[in-house]
Amino acid sequence: MKLKAIKEAEATHYMPVFSRDSLCIERGEGNCVYDIYGNKYVDFVAGIATNILGYNHPEFTDAVCAQVKTLIHVSNHYYTEIQSRYIKKLCDASGFSRVFLCNSGAEANECALKLVRRFYKNRGEQKTILTAEGSFHGRTLATLTATDNAAQHDVYSPLPSGFKSFKYNDFDDFKSKLTDDVGAVFLETIQGERGVRPFSDDFLVNAYAMCKSKGILFVADEIQTGMGRTGKLFSFEHFGIKPDVITLAKAIAGGIPMGACLAVEEVGTAFKLGDHGSTFGGNALACAAADKVLDLLLGGLLDSAAEVGEYLGERLSHFSKYNFIADIRGRGLMRGIQFTDKVPAALFEGKLKERGYLVNVAGNNTVRLVPPLTITREEIDGLVAALDDVCASTNV
Ligand SMILES: *Cc1c(COP(=O)(O)O)cnc(C)c1O
Repeated sequence: MKLKAIKEAEATHYMPVFSRDSLCIERGEGNCVYDIYGNKYVDFVAGIATNILGYNHPEFTDAVCAQVKTLIHVSNHYYTEIQSRYIKKLCDASGFSRVFLCNSGAEANECALKLVRRFYKNRGEQKTILTAEGSFHGRTLATLTATDNAAQHDVYSPLPSGFKSFKYNDFDDFKSKLTDDVGAVFLETIQGERGVRPFSDDFLVNAYAMCKSKGILFVADEIQTGMGRTGKLFSFEHFGIKPDVITLAKAIAGGIPMGACLAVEEVGTAFKLGDHGSTFGGNALACAAADKVLDLLLGGLLDSAAEVGEYLGERLSHFSKYNFIADIRGRGLMRGIQFTDKVPAALFEGKLKERGYLVNVAGNNTVRLVPPLTITREEIDGLVAALDDVCASTNV
């Protein structure tokens, strides 16, 4: 009854953009959430790669509550100690010297896009941004333009100009598109929304080298892959490359809304006074949360998550024995299980939920696993057993 009324209120009053699962979550503890009827689910969705500390993490909760009692928000017209401490720590940890703080992934990418344009305008130039087929960069008009979604492009046209795209993982196509008008390449090393689809190591290394040799900026959207998700603080570290700009959001503040655009000094100083801004961006509460997340990552969580991520990959590799599983992909605690077109991935999402595990479906008929970085081997074993149970009873 309770759930019915909740669903009715949403259907009546929320703008009709979300297709929600029939599940109302009341609270979380550890790596699990509980619905309004007290049912427990081990959470391999984690607010979509966001709740990296799980729920009610003692140190994180204490830090956030203490900040709430001290100061939540003031205008960026003033300094705060917590923002000052955090930006220094984030720059030290990332190797970038400049940061802009905002509230979401789309905003972080919007900042990166504006930064690139400003960087070239300072030299009297106007450049095109080259994006990848299959990309997802957000839902503002500019980030939607950078996103590969023809249907949405049609709905929201006219779109900003100055974008073009290259074929996924196709270096020849990439090379042919890297003409003199291109000022920056924008990509995710692993395309999360497109079903945890990684670029090959070779592609990334060569694409980066080609950008460097031509003086073209390389921008990595690390919104989903960043903050330890793939076993390193940022996914670009796997390839020995150093982008000029990266964007972060999702996990950066453990579930408190925050985004960040980081850049090397030459690019990060391109904005002039008043060129960009944000009311909420980098407020005291978000910075206190992000500061604690970074402390915990660097204080051991990054290393343990890398190990547990390897373990998850190893356990999942055995599922290739099922002929309706097309591919198993990903890195660290970001994994995708792609099903053949004989079976819908949503079926597995539903059956895992019945067994007390939350997973979600991303593009390419893929079940995506992006649990908290605090997920345990035992919880992974539980999911693997449940998935094995579901697969064994699937007849195709
Ligand atoms: C989630 C995501 C975004 C958009 O983030 P929002 O906070 O929803 O605006 C952009 N890029 C990537 C790679 C993402 O995963």
